[in-house]
Amino acid sequence: MYLHLPQAPLQPLDLPWLQQAEIQAAILRLDLIDPLISGNKWFKLRHHLQQAHHSSAPGLISLGGNHSNHLHALAAAGKRFGFATAGLLRGHPQETPTVRDLQALGMDLHWLGYGGYRARHEAGFWQPWQARYPGWHCIPEGGGGAAGAEGCALVVQQARAQLSALGWPGYDAWWLAAGTGTTLAGLVLAEAGAHAVHGALAVPMDHGVPEAVAELAGTQGYQLHDACRGGFGKFDDELLAFVAESEQYTGVPFEALYTGKALLALRDQVEAGLFAPGTRLIFLHTGGLQGRRGYL
Ligand SMILES: *Cc1c(COP(=O)(O)O)cnc(C)c1O
Repeated sequence: MYLHLPQAPLQPLDLPWLQQAEIQAAILRLDLIDPLISGNKWFKLRHHLQQAHHSSAPGLISLGGNHSNHLHALAAAGKRFGFATAGLLRGHPQETPTVRDLQALGMDLHWLGYGGYRARHEAGFWQPWQARYPGWHCIPEGGGGAAGAEGCALVVQQARAQLSALGWPGYDAWWLAAGTGTTLAGLVLAEAGAHAVHGALAVPMDHGVPEAVAELAGTQGYQLHDACRGGFGKFDDELLAFVAESEQYTGVPFEALYTGKALLALRDQVEAGLFAPGTRLIFLHTGGLQGRRGYL
């Protein structure tokens, strides 16, 4: 298949609080697959790009905010693999590092305002856009839905292919940040109960994510943990200090919004004794580092 990026490396993850609890951890670095098409968003886009290719769609269109990792990956993938792209943005025209990249990558941008963006779930929302971009492939917000989840089966394959190089006979569980829960659902489906999947929710628990995950992947084989620290996109000093300290200790870059909150929630659960000594965990680095420019 011509839609190909290098495998994400699986690396040992050493942190004092993991050692103390006698937990072995590895980190699957989705942030390293490509300088521009980063993280879980590539895996969620794979099937959409294949569908667009098979239906000879001239382009792909999707929606997001002005720091969106999803639109960023879509714009970069479109440019790399020869599709036009269009982005429907929340709010009013604004220059952010992400927006500048989207423009440089050749994405058509349309600002919907806030009310216009809220209408994205209404019947008929896509009609005018389909009329404006005939034959284009439409991707739900954040790359959500079944096609996005299916693309994440490759994440599990890539980790398993590298276990022996790490000297691991196997692993016990996954830990990853969840936003829409699509990546989490993809891992749950690929694991089919073989290993537990733990999702650290970067949005409040009552924002529909548990329901969305249940619809995609059922209710077994995973656990959701609140990691949002007061709301999506909210930062506090403890979080930022923890991210800085973890980066220094591991040499791995994290952003606070998803991977930082997920790692902090893992520390809290490890310290609370969720995992028995000897447990082998794979932490999924979901990427998103381009978004750091928006809040640093
Ligand atoms: C989008 C994103 C997530 C959330 O992925 P979902 O599939 O929506 O749950 C997690 N981490 C990073 C860095 C992201 O950009």
